Amino acid sequence: MTTPLMLFLAVLGHVLLAAHALRQGEWGLAAALAALPLLLLTRLGAARLVSGLVLVLGALVWVQAGLSFVGMRLALGQDWLRLALILAAVMLASLGAGLWLLGRRAQELFHRNRAVELPQTAAFALAAGLLITARAKASVPVLLADRFLPGSGWLEILALALYAAWLAGAFMAPPRHRELRPRVWALFSAVFFGQLVLGLLGLQDLLMTGRLHLPVPALIAAGPLFRGSGLFMAILFSATVLFVGPAWCSHLCYIGAWDDACSRLGPKVPRPVSPRWTLWGRFTALVLTCGGALALRLLGVDGLTAAWLAAGFGLVGVGVMLVVSRRLGVMAHCTAFCPIGLIGNVLGRLIPWRVRIDRALCTRCGTCARACRYSALSDQDIEAGKPALPCTLCGDCVGACPHEAMHYRFPGLANATARAVFLTLIAALSAAFLGVARI
Ligand code: SF4
Ligand code: SF4
Repeated sequence: MTTPLMLFLAVLGHVLLAAHALRQGEWGLAAALAALPLLLLTRLGAARLVSGLVLVLGALVWVQAGLSFVGMRLALGQDWLRLALILAAVMLASLGAGLWLLGRRAQELFHRNRAVELPQTAAFALAAGLLITARAKASVPVLLADRFLPGSGWLEILALALYAAWLAGAFMAPPRHRELRPRVWALFSAVFFGQLVLGLLGLQDLLMTGRLHLPVPALIAAGPLFRGSGLFMAILFSATVLFVGPAWCSHLCYIGAWDDACSRLGPKVPRPVSPRWTLWGRFTALVLTCGGALALRLLGVDGLTAAWLAAGFGLVGVGVMLVVSRRLGVMAHCTAFCPIGLIGNVLGRLIPWRVRIDRALCTRCGTCARACRYSALSDQDIEAGKPALPCTLCGDCVGACPHEAMHYRFPGLANATARAVFLTLIAALSAAFLGVARI
């Protein structure tokens, strides 16, 4: 008897929250809340946790609504007791159903994919939180859905949060992460550039603001130095590094996906770039782009000339991908040419995410080195038990090692937990970037 009653209260709780949102004029939020109980039909562990969290947060909404309604009635000298009792009952029903879904009793009913229910729920919540914040704070409608149908951004947030949850679940198995990563990354890049091309062809809504800039990663650092303003991309990049270290360059960069695709057209076994190039090649590019940007600014060079120079730099980079990456099967552009890759690697060292080799399990078979497209695993690196500077935490070696000797590490966390937390963050960021990254 308890289970049908609690399920009924759970569905009712969502419907009442949806009605409350509709009353506030948020039809998109109302539709998203009304759709959420459908997730319970999947019997997925994450569905009960997401739904439970929404109902518990919903109880707080009812407390706040109750206080404000009662306050209004008191101010008008009207009867308030009946209303307060009704809202208290709704709040208790929402809280009770939420806690029941979060508790042990509901676990048996929602038994599917229990092993990944926590990462999936966390990825859902984080992606939704990031997108809700971006939507609330941005000075322009940042979500595409809102631009075409105002208010429907909530449905886009729901769709992207579900995508994050799916990604997190799929990433939990190392070989699946290795297989999916390039596809998810390529999809993001295709959506990013697809929007740019369609925007330039006249669909202005697909551009962020209409103030265009070149999609050359080096400009993340060089652009603000030349303009003296426009720190958005630099802040986005730094925030990403703060969350996931250098993984911008293996999961989130719109251009890196091209280098990844080019390297995969080359030999199956990558021919690594020498450490001299990975450090000094990129350092030279950093000095040239940042020093050049400052010099252009001091010389008073106009924006158009600077843009042509930046476009030239970007085109040389594309040439490096098409010729060198394709020939060697490694990401030559990202590991030897792109200055942002070097900044990501160096700043990423300040964040404690690492990939490490368990030397007790490692047989020195070299399978991990053959999986690494970032030239980060020489024989010496394997012997030392840690990848070299160009490592971007892509995880390909973790999925490739037949002896399970490669691990993600984070101080204080067990290896499996560190990997789950790291990939949950990546899944949430991938979904959020898909929703908001455009030029
Ligand atoms: S190295 Fe540069 S192009 Fe490559 S992924 Fe990183 S920022 Fe992007
Ligand atoms: S060492 Fe492993 S995690 Fe680091 S870049 Fe190479 S394959 Fe990716």
